[in-house]
Amino acid sequence: MPVVDVAVIGAGAAGMLCAAVAGQRGMRVVLLDHAEKLAEKIRISGGGRCNFTNRVVTAEHFISANPHFCKSALAGFTPQDFIAMVDRHGIAWHEKHKGQLFCDQSSELIIEMLRAECDDAGVRWMMPCTVNEIVSTQDVGAQGFLLSTDQGQVQCRNLVIATGGLAIPQLGATDFGLKIARQFGLKVIEPRPALVPLTFNGEEWQPLVDLAGLAIPSVVSTGAGRRAPAFLEDVLFTHKGLSGPGILQISSYWQPGEPICLDLAPDLDMEALLLEAKSGGRQQLGTLLASLWPKRLSEQWLGELAASRIADLPDRTLRELAARIKGWAVNPNGTLGYKKAEVMRGGVDTRGLDQRTMQAKAVPGLHFIGEVVDVTGWLGGYNFQWAWSSAAACGRGLV
Ligand SMILES: Cc1cc2nc3c(=O)[nH]c(=O)nc-3n(C[C@H](O)[C@H](O)[C@H](O)COP(=O)(O)OP(=O)(O)OC[C@H]3O[C@@H](n4cnc5c(N)ncnc54)[C@H](O)[C@@H]3O)c2cc1C
Repeated sequence: MPVVDVAVIGAGAAGMLCAAVAGQRGMRVVLLDHAEKLAEKIRISGGGRCNFTNRVVTAEHFISANPHFCKSALAGFTPQDFIAMVDRHGIAWHEKHKGQLFCDQSSELIIEMLRAECDDAGVRWMMPCTVNEIVSTQDVGAQGFLLSTDQGQVQCRNLVIATGGLAIPQLGATDFGLKIARQFGLKVIEPRPALVPLTFNGEEWQPLVDLAGLAIPSVVSTGAGRRAPAFLEDVLFTHKGLSGPGILQISSYWQPGEPICLDLAPDLDMEALLLEAKSGGRQQLGTLLASLWPKRLSEQWLGELAASRIADLPDRTLRELAARIKGWAVNPNGTLGYKKAEVMRGGVDTRGLDQRTMQAKAVPGLHFIGEVVDVTGWLGGYNFQWAWSSAAACGRGLV
């Protein structure tokens, strides 16, 4: 039976980095994963190019019931630290929209980098391997855990749970980490799909179905009165509702039953524009709107009003139209769920974890890192940065 200093369950983004950091410190580390193929989420991330971090990462880019928790780990292992590792491995990268960093070639290179870091650190792989049971050996003496797996037992002093969130179950996502947290008495913040397209009542959405495939820049926010940021990003109309980066971002803040609000002409003072256009002679409303939006959208939006001459319309009608364009409130009836979500929000309640080491305060030796923890990043490389930062904090803090 292998007896090790550290067993890491989950060889994804966080698990591999944590295993490598601990191994490089001279610890005996075993890394277990039930998957046949290594790190599928890294492979498919960023459209196959892995948006591995962001130039600017602060606590404001994360959602958590305990918003300050992530700060210490993010400060201890920064985007620059990960970039330095990527550079050391000769992986070419580039910056895109809003500080997002991607591989020039393929996300496979990030997987290979992490695999090599683990191999250099002498990490022992057990993969594919199913963990059937975990028991604490604390009651029979020193801090430790006994893992029963389909490849026999593993005894470890430290156990790191890095099994990720519930998104994309078709790639092997499980609630293993949440179950282990509950088994050891840790609280779990209710998990929900996040960075996910929003759906609408079929009948209500029917008039907009023809807009599927159309994308426009919008400012997207949740209902008034809640402290959530507004995102200026593209919004994509789909057959079932709305998607695109703006919607994915706001989905992480959306609460069922609430509307979301879209400003469909973010750079324009629509009211002033429409009222001024009244003096423009014979111009039709449809013509004006089609100069700002794709024609399909302006036609759908205006209906019969499209053929009206702006000069003939009362100010009140124009003001109402402007208000609806600048503050289109819609009521999602749900999301496309974990099958289409990029991440899970919620997870292991951070109030039960030490922010410097990710160790469970009440269970010496037990650690949680990465997406299984209730720290959820915005779209844009933030979820990987949390995986790296929490993994490094844990790997460095293991004793
Ligand atoms: C389509 C898609 C695209 C994404 N793109 C990006 C992006 O470009 N940038 C970004 O920052 N984030 C992106 N993300 C999110 C990012 O992939 C995750 O937040 C990140 O991988 C989380 O790291 P992790 O190590 O916690 O979990 P994971 O990387 O998911 O690793 C968890 C590991 O645990 C294993 N596991 C699960 N259950 C068990 C079990 N019971 N027993 C043993 N092993 C188990 C899994 O096989 C897996 O290898 C994307 C997600 C998706 C779905």
